Amino acid sequence: MTDPDGQIARVTVPALDGILGKRLTVLDDGFVRVVDYMGGDESIVQAARVSYGQGTKKVHEDQGLIRYLLRHRHTTPLEMCEIKLHVRVPMDCWRQWIRHRTANVNEYSTRYSIAIDAAQRTAPDAWRRQSAQNRQGSGEYLDAATGAALSAEEDELQQRARRAYEERLDLGVAREQARKDLPLSTYTEAYWKVDLHNLLHFLALRMDPHAQAEIRAYAEVIGEQIVQQWCPMAWEAFVDYRLSALSLTRSEIAIIRALTDSPGQVREIAIAEGVLPAGSSGTQRGRELDEFEEKLDLLGLRVTWTRIMGD
Ligand SMILES: Cc1cc2nc3c(=O)[nH]c(=O)nc-3n(C[C@H](O)[C@H](O)[C@H](O)COP(=O)(O)OP(=O)(O)OC[C@H]3O[C@@H](n4cnc5c(N)ncnc54)[C@H](O)[C@@H]3O)c2cc1C
Repeated sequence: MTDPDGQIARVTVPALDGILGKRLTVLDDGFVRVVDYMGGDESIVQAARVSYGQGTKKVHEDQGLIRYLLRHRHTTPLEMCEIKLHVRVPMDCWRQWIRHRTANVNEYSTRYSIAIDAAQRTAPDAWRRQSAQNRQGSGEYLDAATGAALSAEEDELQQRARRAYEERLDLGVAREQARKDLPLSTYTEAYWKVDLHNLLHFLALRMDPHAQAEIRAYAEVIGEQIVQQWCPMAWEAFVDYRLSALSLTRSEIAIIRALTDSPGQVREIAIAEGVLPAGSSGTQRGRELDEFEEKLDLLGLRVTWTRIMGD
């Protein structure tokens, strides 16, 4: 990074330069495009060495240092990397996206300009049922015939709303008022600049299976097609220590320990820890119990609460 004259050369990442400005398609008409960036894995290491001193260079290789930082949540070196994206997102998705306050944003103005003439459409086979377990989530797909009818109705609604919008504009209604009945599926565009620390936080929340499928599609493109190219070492550490990692609560550790140490008491411990409701055989499901069982599945462990009781 420093040449023999002590000049600092700009950090560039050829793999990211290769996709600079290219539209990476998301959903039916959305995209993410890298407009600019600052830094890379090298900048993380450079910043960390300022705080830990040159001595660390001998002890840690760059990859080891980055992995150490992410493992121990030493986040400020990651803030030395920044990226500016141009995104095109349906408004319902953007409403979730904009909740991430630690980015700098400039959004297309439908007070100033005519709203983008594109709305996100749902394919007949992509309508999801309300999840039975999670009030915020989706479950199975609806059958093809129902899906086709829903998609046809969606098309009609979107066209009707667009016609009303354009009629208002033709009649001289102000753009800021004419837009009020446009559907949430209408695409908006924004420039979104964020540092790597906050971007990884965004990705941890929005690549998670609990995030809505539409925003997850954007997060996956940003993570797997952009961050992975930009900062491959930080990305690998993020996947290992955050995205694919498992966090266990104190209660969960106590129950898992009991599975090997005292299997006969697992149910009592789970009740004492408040994970299993008293008097329940696991059929009275709390959200925490569902989440715990997902973790047990991942660990290849299974608890049959009733069998443990002996009934
Ligand atoms: C699956 C899912 C479901 C959700 N459901 C809902 C919902 O039903 N209703 C709803 O309103 N929201 C919901 N959200 C949004 C969520 O509550 C957060 O607002 C959003 O994810 C942004 O997270 P954040 O605040 O951590 O991110 P950022 O705003 O980027 O902030 C990053 C971090 O900076 C710090 N920070 C930022 N601003 C402040 C501040 N002012 N004070 C102190 N610390 C700050 C915090 O540590 C924060 O975690 C949901 C999010 C997810 C992922």
